[in-house]
Amino acid sequence: MAKTFLIATHNAKKKNELLRILSPLGIDVKTDSELGLTLTEPEENGETFYENALIKAKMGCEESGYPCVADDSGLMVDYLAGAPGVYSARFSGEHGNDKKNNEKLLKLMSDVPENERTARFVSVVCCVFPNGDIISARGECEGTIGYKELGEGGFGYDPVFMVDGKSFAEISDEEKDKLSHRGKALKLLLEKLNDYKSL
Ligand code: IMP
Repeated sequence: MAKTFLIATHNAKKKNELLRILSPLGIDVKTDSELGLTLTEPEENGETFYENALIKAKMGCEESGYPCVADDSGLMVDYLAGAPGVYSARFSGEHGNDKKNNEKLLKLMSDVPENERTARFVSVVCCVFPNGDIISARGECEGTIGYKELGEGGFGYDPVFMVDGKSFAEISDEEKDKLSHRGKALKLLLEKLNDYKSL
């Protein structure tokens, strides 16, 4: 699979993660700046992760002419009836403020017992081709919400998302990629891309 794919995201840390996971899988992925482009930031007004991933991938493909991969992801907390979900990036009201989002979540969960702290990260990745074809895949990762921020790595809700006694901000990039929603979704996407007849 020697075709070049554009990845569309304005989140620098997520961009690194997408590049880190996709590059060793034999996909030639490029960012907009590597292709001499600056993608428009679309309004993510979908009601599902799929709709938002599709909005981003479609726009990236239309603006670049390359097949474009985009991810939409978020955290779903059972005690909060699935919130923040598609609103994960703007949970505190300020788009992309990880610190405030984590503070709000920890406050809402402060009195919640351990057995009710279950949550999952969800990622839906979409690839849109210039001929209009769409391939998508979903990945989930189960965990619990911690009681305070732990660790220095990762991004977003990683410091408060616990798997096997450690937060996602305390484990290595390689460990996170093996367990994570995005790692799983991209692995599945790759399998589907390998089967895609036009490649
Ligand atoms: P998106 O960029 O619209 O997909 O927003 C995703 C939001 O969900 C981010 O701002 C993060 O807060 C959160 N999120 C998604 N994936 C992860 C992850 O792997 N770790 C931590 N937070 C994540």
